[in-house]
Amino acid sequence: MAGIWPGDTQCVVMLSFDMDGPSAMIRRNPEVERMPSARSMGEFGPDVAVPRILAMLRDFEIPASFYIPGWVAERWPGTVEAVAADGHEIAHHGYLHEPPASLQGAEEGEVLDRGSEILERITGQRPKGYRSPSWELSDQSLSLLADRGFVYDSSLMGDDAPYFVDAGDGRRLVEVPVHWSLDDAPFYPFNPAVGRTEVMASPQQVYETWASAFDELYERGRAYALTMHPWVTGRAGRLSMLERLIRYIRAFDHVEFARTVDVAEAYRDRAS
Ligand SMILES: [Zn+2]
Repeated sequence: MAGIWPGDTQCVVMLSFDMDGPSAMIRRNPEVERMPSARSMGEFGPDVAVPRILAMLRDFEIPASFYIPGWVAERWPGTVEAVAADGHEIAHHGYLHEPPASLQGAEEGEVLDRGSEILERITGQRPKGYRSPSWELSDQSLSLLADRGFVYDSSLMGDDAPYFVDAGDGRRLVEVPVHWSLDDAPFYPFNPAVGRTEVMASPQQVYETWASAFDELYERGRAYALTMHPWVTGRAGRLSMLERLIRYIRAFDHVEFARTVDVAEAYRDRAS
C-alpha cells in the first residue's frame, strides 16, 4: 500500500477527546468559578457527554484517547475510571489547563508531576502521552516530558503523521501531530464568558471539512487525528455527526482505529 504504515494499513485513525470540563474557561477567566451558567456548560462534558461518547465508542468497538487535566480528574474520578475501564487511553493535559508557555520557571515541571500523580492515583497507571493545553508548548516542554519518561507529545503541527522531535541531550520523543482544522473547538466556539461570540458552524460544515480531510489523508496513507472536547462535540446534532463520520470512514478498506499511545509506541519501536 502507498503510505507510511506497515502491513496493509492505509490510514490510521485516532479519535481523541480532551476532557476539559470547565477547566479551560476557568483558566482563561477565573471569574467563571463564580459563574454557574458558564461553568455548567463545561460540566456537561464529564457529566453527560462522556457517558454518551463511551456508549458510542462501545457500539463501534473503537478505542480512543482521553486527555484529562488533573483538576478535572479530581472532580470526576468516576468518569475517569469509566473511561479507563473501557480500555481507552488516559493521557496528560495539564492540571488546570495551563498552557506551558504561560508558566514560569519550575512551575511547568510541577504541573506535569501533579497531573501524572492524580491520573495514576485514579487509574493505577502513569500516563505515557501528553497534550499541552491550548497546544502551546514552552521551549522546555519536550525535555521535561523526556525527563519524566513520556513516550509521546501531541501538540505540534509539523506533519500529518507521527514524527520524532528532539527532546535534548540526545533524546527524542514521538510527536503525534494535530491541527486546528481537525479540532472541534474552532468550529463551535460560542462562549461569552471567555469572549467567544462568533457564530457556530453547523455540524454539516464540520462534517464536510473532516470528511474531505480524511479522503486526502487516506489517499496519501497518513494519520487521521481528530481532537474533540466532550462539552463541545457531545452536544445534540454534533455527536450524531461524529457517528455519521465514523460510519463513512469505516466504509474504507484498510483503515485502523487506534489509541494514540499505541500508534506512538509502534512508531518508536519500528524505528529502533
Ligand atoms: Zn484542552
